[in-house]
Amino acid sequence: MGAMTVAIDADVCVIGGGLAGMTSAIAAAEAGASVRLLSHKKSTLRQASGLIDLLGYTPAGEIVADPFDAMATLPDHHLYQRIGEQAVHDGFDLFDAVVGESYSGDHTAANALVPTYGGRIKPTARYPTMTAAGLASDRSPVLFVGFERLTAFDAPYVSASLSSDGMPAPTRGVTISAPGSHRPDTRLHRLVHALDVNESVSTSTGSQPIRDALARRIEPHLESAQRVGLPALLGLENAPDVRRDLERLLGVDVFELPMGPPSIPGQRLEHQYLDALDDAGVFRTTGNPVVAFDADAGRIQRVYIDRNGSRVPYTASQFVLATGGLVGKGLASDRTALSEPVFGCHVPHPADRAEWYGDDPHTDQPFARFGVAVDRSLKPCDDSETPEYDNLRAAGGVLGGTDVTMELSASGRSLASGVRAGRLAGERSN
Ligand SMILES: Cc1cc2nc3c(=O)[nH]c(=O)nc-3n(C[C@H](O)[C@H](O)[C@H](O)COP(=O)(O)OP(=O)(O)OC[C@H]3O[C@@H](n4cnc5c(N)ncnc54)[C@H](O)[C@@H]3O)c2cc1C
Repeated sequence: MGAMTVAIDADVCVIGGGLAGMTSAIAAAEAGASVRLLSHKKSTLRQASGLIDLLGYTPAGEIVADPFDAMATLPDHHLYQRIGEQAVHDGFDLFDAVVGESYSGDHTAANALVPTYGGRIKPTARYPTMTAAGLASDRSPVLFVGFERLTAFDAPYVSASLSSDGMPAPTRGVTISAPGSHRPDTRLHRLVHALDVNESVSTSTGSQPIRDALARRIEPHLESAQRVGLPALLGLENAPDVRRDLERLLGVDVFELPMGPPSIPGQRLEHQYLDALDDAGVFRTTGNPVVAFDADAGRIQRVYIDRNGSRVPYTASQFVLATGGLVGKGLASDRTALSEPVFGCHVPHPADRAEWYGDDPHTDQPFARFGVAVDRSLKPCDDSETPEYDNLRAAGGVLGGTDVTMELSASGRSLASGVRAGRLAGERSN
């Protein structure tokens, strides 16, 4: 006889462990609910820059100085209009509480202009404090420092490109070899760890702590620079100490430029959210996908995860779908159609695949807006705009309607919809 599986109960069950799902889970717990978070794999935070975009460009392509001013001009169908400005404030308030002083930008409603490792200036709402000394609005001279073999960060190119993108400060870029035997291309995490623990490395003058050795290699290039920008790999757990030490040794401000995958700022942020989930008392189950569900009378009763071929049920009175977009596997695409694989929610899209793509890859792309359609309380709706299930809400990248890559609003969407879906689910479950 097989072992009997017993349903595990929580008031709210959140599916998906990215920024949207974690935000939903914390908001539901703060509303007084017991919360279970089910997540399959690592979220896209591991790939993301760690910058938190709210609204960088209008749908017409104009750069946004103040996202809250610009929000009022968005079309009615835009998510921020549908769920309201207060939800956006609430999402960012929750974010600010989770990250504390490790992020900057909450002192003003205006976007900050942050240089990226690709040599562009990006408008963003929140940025790691490790990045703060690099803002493009500051006019003091900058030295960008890259490492040999870390080809993703080409400091002379970044310097030239930022100047032509309008950065007013005088900039220079140099490439040095990283101290120690850590090759930044293949052993990025070893270099990050070595800086974290200030490992001893051997140099031509004997062994010394890696932070000192790094400062010594940068120093001859300083000239008139008042700021030094490095790729974002200055430690995982002790990054503020690494920066402080380098600033003390060099006598100038030091900052990081957010990098692509594997993103160290994204990992730091993920660690902070995991701590916040623990503090909020959220139960987490990771490593297994939700593969099935039972519904009755228009309500989801339970979902099932697949664990080594057996199905384990989780019951709840409210559910939040936060499984991400195509990258997170919250949406699935084959040659003919697009679907939402967990609950089979309706995903509006043209039947003719030729209409999925626009002619110009740099402008409006219909597929970028594909995703689940929701009502104002974030319930996924069928093709007649009726909620599919009375106790199901959706948040984050699984939502359709907005091209967040063009607008620079991906994390803002996750925070605003996450907090609203989580709070409504938490309140309804009580
Ligand atoms: C390369 C990259 C760069 C980015 N850069 C920025 C940036 O600069 N600024 C910005 O604001 N945003 C950026 N983002 C966006 C941001 O990081 C998030 O992708 C966005 O907020 C969406 O988050 P999410 O929680 O909805 O989805 P995801 O992060 O995709 O998380 C979805 C989660 O759901 C889980 N899941 C999926 N299916 C199932 C299932 N069946 N059962 C259980 N779990 C499931 C996944 O394993 C994953 O953990 C970037 C994203 C990427 C990919």
